[in-house]
Amino acid sequence: MNAVAPHVGRFAPSPSGPLHFGSLVAALGSALEARCHRGAWHLRIEDVDAPRVVPGAADGILATLERLGFEWDGDILWQSRRVDAYAAALERLRAGGHVFPCACTRREMADSALARDGSRRYPGVCRGGLPPGRAPRAWRVRAEGAIRFDDAIQGTQEEDLARDVGDYVVFRADGQFAYQLAVVVDDAAQGITHVVRGADLLGSTARQIHLQRLLRLHTPSYAHLPVATDEAGDKLSKQTLARAIDDEPPARALAAALGFLGQNPPAALTRASRAEVWTWALAHWRLDRVPRLPQKPAPRTMRE
Ligand code: GLU
Repeated sequence: MNAVAPHVGRFAPSPSGPLHFGSLVAALGSALEARCHRGAWHLRIEDVDAPRVVPGAADGILATLERLGFEWDGDILWQSRRVDAYAAALERLRAGGHVFPCACTRREMADSALARDGSRRYPGVCRGGLPPGRAPRAWRVRAEGAIRFDDAIQGTQEEDLARDVGDYVVFRADGQFAYQLAVVVDDAAQGITHVVRGADLLGSTARQIHLQRLLRLHTPSYAHLPVATDEAGDKLSKQTLARAIDDEPPARALAAALGFLGQNPPAALTRASRAEVWTWALAHWRLDRVPRLPQKPAPRTMRE
């Protein structure tokens, strides 16, 4: 008998506010995709970006997930406790000659000719060495080559890193490791085989695959869910003060997320028990029913 390939998924919220509908969609999609493949599903609190962490938000997110009936496997991984692992990865990138120190300030980059073209790419000033007398602020990866991957929902994606992104930051001027590096190191540490998350991160995936290659880490498969937007078409986010879903009965919130994910839950599910919603969802989940990006996709983020 052939061994079944393991399926390991995850949900990785940033504790910058309460769990909102957009993150519920990502939690539910990733959990159902993992469970329907008899896989594991892990939780990771992405509190690597200390300045954006809101005190109490992580506990709030965990309480909401529990109230909604989510069950994760193993221990929660907290990025704030993983600094040594990120430092080791940066050291490997440094040893391989894949990163360089950068002295440029945001101001200098905004003033550069490239930026005046409307490009947000790094103009490459420190690529060949720091300008005399300047101290390093951040570390950047040399962006080279084209990255192509098949997204299970959004189809084939291709990004020319040098042209579309430019040399990107892995260690920030404020002394924090960048999201891109932390996610790659942690997806590998948690043995993630399938990343299911919001399409606002589609534009980060090429950089993450690039880092996986440089660090010789496994590349998981990717599925990017459509992003929930408010009436004005803006991405629902913790920052835009999206209403917390705690005021709603769990069955109604879960059924709404299933509907958003194209699963056509019967209307009666809204009034069913939480356990009944989960039973229905596990019996009917199909990734191929999830709609692609809405007509007006959320802008691709250039997050560091
Ligand atoms: N922490 C990110 C967020 O909340 C998600 C990262 C990921 O799923 O890769 O937007």
